[in-house]
This record gives sequence, C-alpha cells and structure tokens, in this order.
Amino acid sequence: MNSQIISVNNLTKQYQQTQVSGISNISFSIKQGDIVAIIGESGSGKSTLLKCIYGLIKADEGEVLLNGKKVKGPDEQLIPGNAEMKMVTQDFSLNIYAKVYDNIASMLSNTDIKAKQEKTLEMMERLHITKLKDKKIIELSGGEQQRVAIAKALISNTKVLLLDEPFSQVDSLLKNQLRADIKRLAKETGLTIILVSHDPTDGLFLADQLLILKQGKLLQNDSPAAIYQNPSDIYTAKILGNAVVLDANEADKIGIKTSKDNVVFYPEWVELKSTWNSRRFEVEEVYYKGFYDELLLERNGVKIRALQLNSGEHKKNDHVQANIGRFLEF
Ligand code: ADP
Ligand code: MG
Repeated sequence: MNSQIISVNNLTKQYQQTQVSGISNISFSIKQGDIVAIIGESGSGKSTLLKCIYGLIKADEGEVLLNGKKVKGPDEQLIPGNAEMKMVTQDFSLNIYAKVYDNIASMLSNTDIKAKQEKTLEMMERLHITKLKDKKIIELSGGEQQRVAIAKALISNTKVLLLDEPFSQVDSLLKNQLRADIKRLAKETGLTIILVSHDPTDGLFLADQLLILKQGKLLQNDSPAAIYQNPSDIYTAKILGNAVVLDANEADKIGIKTSKDNVVFYPEWVELKSTWNSRRFEVEEVYYKGFYDELLLERNGVKIRALQLNSGEHKKNDHVQANIGRFLEF
C-alpha cells in the first residue's frame, strides 16, 4: 500500500520576472495522517505554496498529486480548489451574522436532517465549541472563530486540511489547547494536515514533518527534532531556536577555533558554572523568563546568550564560566 497522500513535484510560481517572489522548484511528499508544518519568515512563499497545493493559483511549472491524481489548477475547473481538501485562512470566511451551529451545518446537505444535526453536534463536541452553538460568529473571540472555521472545514469529507497561520489570532493559553486539539483530531481521524506559520513553536510542537522555506526555496525537510539538532542553514537555526551566530573572528575571541565562516549554537547548549577559570564571561543582562533566565554574556567584546534554569542564580555583573558544549560550523 502506498501511504503517501500528497506529492509535490518541482513546483514553481514566480509572480514577477525581475525579482525573487513566490516559490521555486519545490518537491516533497506527505504521508497520509501526518501533520506537516511549513515554517519560514514572512514573504518566504508559504501562502503561495499552500495555494498551489490547493489549486487556487496556477503554478508556472510542476504539479501536485493527491492520491496519485493531479490537482487541477484554477484554469482547469469552474470552482478553484479541491473537494477533498479544505483551506482555512486568516480571515476564516465565516458568515459572521449567522450562528455557530448554522455556519458548520451549512456545509452538509438537507437530504438527511437527523444525520446533519448529529454530525454537526459531534464536530462541535470534538472542537470544544458546543457551548457556543447559539452564538453569532461576530460575538466570538479570534480563537473561537478559528475553531468554528476548522469544524466547518472538517465536517465535509475532507482528507487534507490546509491551515494558513492558524494560531496568529489566538492568545497563548488557547493556542496550546488548539494545537493539542488539532494534533488529537489528526491522530483520531487520519486527517492529513498542512499548516504554515512564521512561528516555529507551532511546527516543533505539532508536526511529524517539518519544512523550512526561505525566499521561495525549500531548505530542509525532515522531522522537527532532526532539523532542530542539525539545521542545514544558519537561517534555520535562527528561526527555530533563536541561535547565537558568531563569525570566525568572534568565535576565536571566546576560544572556539573554526575553519568555516560561522559558529552557531543554541543558548541551551551553553553550560554554565560559577567556578573561576580562564573562560570567564561577564553577565551583561538577565532576562527573566519565568522558570528560567536568559543571560546575555560578554567576553572580549563578544556577546552570547545562555540559559540558567534556576531563575535568579546569576545577577548582572556576575562572572560565570561558560562552556559551549556543542556548536555547529557553517
Ligand atoms: P508568506 O506567506 O510566506 O508570507 P507569500 O507566499 O505570501 O509569503 O509571498 C511570497 C512572495 O511572493 C513575497 O515576496 C510576496 O511579496 C510575493 N507575492 C505574493 N503574492 C503575490 C502576488 N499576488 N503578486 C505579486 N507578488 C506576490
Ligand atoms: Mg502568508
């Protein structure tokens, strides 16, 4: 059995001839039931890629296969999009004056009223929005609207759910719950989810497969852990883990020799000790983060960041010994 549901082959879409825009030569495949996160900074081509996959915009080159069948572009059918996929965008496309229940139920036909009712209520239960049933969309928060939009997308026979920046309007507490719900939904239903975001924490937490997009090009495609531990590019290390990037000269000043141009490490790779020795850094700034502190450290004019799990252990102007336990060279 081929468990691959989507295959993206050499997809290219350029909006302008003169400058880099859109996406270029992107290929990857997706296993059925997986959650795929596409991460990249604003303008990296995430929405373009999603729209090409859904068939909303026509690619210049390449194709998208859904279960081996080519996804039709907007010029090849009357209504752009694909019946087996659903896309939820930032504006949700809900009927804001209608009730939550009616927004969701409107996706189903009236041939079997009882089944329609049951299915709608079940989907509302799944997304924890049952108590919002009789509220109008306009009365809901951004996060609640998001849930309604997802319920609406899922209720018809959707195989692939496409989410464009799904957590951008949701506050952080609800975000965690919504992420967990999406993950559970995917695992319960076998639904395949593709989500794009500029926020890497979305991808790292949720995804089975992570894609890093930069200026329209696919930089890396692997599991979140593999990419985080071994980013192929400085951009990836910065976007995923707020990595410290030093040039060879700076690295040398804090005792790291490299034959490459740059040394890169995550703050949590820095080991701190309070003992005195020659590898001494001064604490320039302490950023309180709740259960840990992020320290800005300085030695010979070079600044690095490190994490201190016992919040309050080091103060500004303290001296600490910092050992860069692991680093990458680019
Ligand atoms: P993202 O979703 O990652 O922010 P987009 O896919 O929206 O990125 O855009 C990628 C690039 O293509 C950007 O440089 C953007 O300005 C350009 N772009 C997007 N849509 C259009 C369009 N309709 N016409 C011209 N350029 C566009
Ligand atoms: Mg976008």
